[in-house]
Amino acid sequence: MSRWSVIGDGVTGLCVATLLAERGHTVEVITSPQHAAASHLAGGMLAPWCEGESAPAEVVELGQRSAPWWSARVKGVAHQGTLVVAPPRDAPELTRFSRMTHAHQWVEPDSLEPALEGRFARGLFFAGEAHLDPRSALLQLRAALQLGGVPFHQDKPGGTVIDCRGIHAAPDQPALRAVRGEMLILQSHDVAFSRPIRLLHPRFPCYLVPRAEGRFMLGATMVESHDSSPVSARAMMELLSAAYAIHPALAEARVLESGSGLRPAWRNNVPAIHHRNGVWSVNGMYRHGFLLAPVMAEKLMQQLMQENLI
Ligand SMILES: Cc1cc2nc3c(=O)[nH]c(=O)nc-3n(C[C@H](O)[C@H](O)[C@H](O)COP(=O)(O)OP(=O)(O)OC[C@H]3O[C@@H](n4cnc5c(N)ncnc54)[C@H](O)[C@@H]3O)c2cc1C
Repeated sequence: MSRWSVIGDGVTGLCVATLLAERGHTVEVITSPQHAAASHLAGGMLAPWCEGESAPAEVVELGQRSAPWWSARVKGVAHQGTLVVAPPRDAPELTRFSRMTHAHQWVEPDSLEPALEGRFARGLFFAGEAHLDPRSALLQLRAALQLGGVPFHQDKPGGTVIDCRGIHAAPDQPALRAVRGEMLILQSHDVAFSRPIRLLHPRFPCYLVPRAEGRFMLGATMVESHDSSPVSARAMMELLSAAYAIHPALAEARVLESGSGLRPAWRNNVPAIHHRNGVWSVNGMYRHGFLLAPVMAEKLMQQLMQENLI
């Protein structure tokens, strides 16, 4: 029988299971194909300093540990930084963004991304940031766990439960709220970028994250809603017009996929660990699951050690 039962195979559950397995503990992962994972919709940006525009200092500080964590465990983490640009009429947005954030430098965007030649006079470069392909990263964590003998199944948990169900835990955790995020996967062989490009806009900020084979993740809306229905026409139009503002060649891109995911969030938008009635839970990753799940999993290990449970 497994000592620990991690419920949920999103980024939180897989990071927790990985650290338990690395420490030699018996762990199982309980999965549910009926419950969608927000993790599959994520952009995969590991961008602590950019997030500092709206996130508390704690997120910026803790998030700096995530890129090394991922690099040590999965292939394909790109340490290329993030480029932030704004259309000429929204240039004051760039200045505002620069004041709200740290660890950046002013650059001519086309010096980093030749495809942007002549499009933006200046931009902000966050050299220390990274990105990954979330689906590939999760598959790699899962494969490593399975190779180490960790079972994945849909039966009842046999050990002490660590609840990593994301927004699906809301019925048991009423303070958990959903923040809907809509995204598209585009494919274009006419334009290439090496790093995430964030486009500032007073109403529709968006980002484009490059993936393999000319694919890009284009995201994302932020809507306070539990509605997990397909992407709205409005969101699609806004996202696509933002992509067009980054580069007109993207008008010819193919839309391979559209999706909407529910980010699980507490009131302060900072993740937390709870222990109630014998059940541990790690939740509230908000828009920072890939950025903060590794750190939250490490914090959980410390807490379990302090309580002599591992
Ligand atoms: C459009 C979009 C873009 C994003 N971009 C980024 C980004 O660039 N960087 C970043 O760091 N974060 C990003 N995020 C946020 C990130 O995706 C979330 O914070 C993260 O996915 C939350 O992970 P989780 O594992 O807690 O929840 P989820 O990914 O939702 O996983 C929950 C898991 O629990 C399982 N489950 C639920 N109920 C049960 C049950 N009863 N039994 C068994 N299993 C169950 C589900 O099947 C699922 O696998 C983005 C989110 C969205 C929507």
